[in-house]
Amino acid sequence: MDVTGYRERLIELEAGLSSHMRRNVASGREQLLDTAADAGDASIADESESEDFTEAELDTTTLQQVQAALRRIENGTYGQCLVDGGPIDSKRLDAVPWAAYCTRHQKLLEAASRPKPTL
Ligand SMILES: [Zn+2]
Repeated sequence: MDVTGYRERLIELEAGLSSHMRRNVASGREQLLDTAADAGDASIADESESEDFTEAELDTTTLQQVQAALRRIENGTYGQCLVDGGPIDSKRLDAVPWAAYCTRHQKLLEAASRPKPTL
């Protein structure tokens, strides 16, 4: 399997996510300082601040997945499902280059993490 294109995209993603995250954390800190300085509407400041951090957390998760995918490229296991080692659909990798599971197992995992309906 030719991973060159995926490798380049993952490296770009890693760089982009890292700098985006640093910006988010920095803007969160600035808001903290602003709030302390002028004691404006603290509730609004708190809200936008926590949104920034949630976004940063999302980035952290994606960044970890991107880095794991880069390790799989090094190991030669990129494009293989972590559960059964089966091939991950190339269309899926084009859309989500850090995909770690085949479509079937991704669906199973998503179903498992979804809260179950209580009857
Ligand atoms: Zn699988």
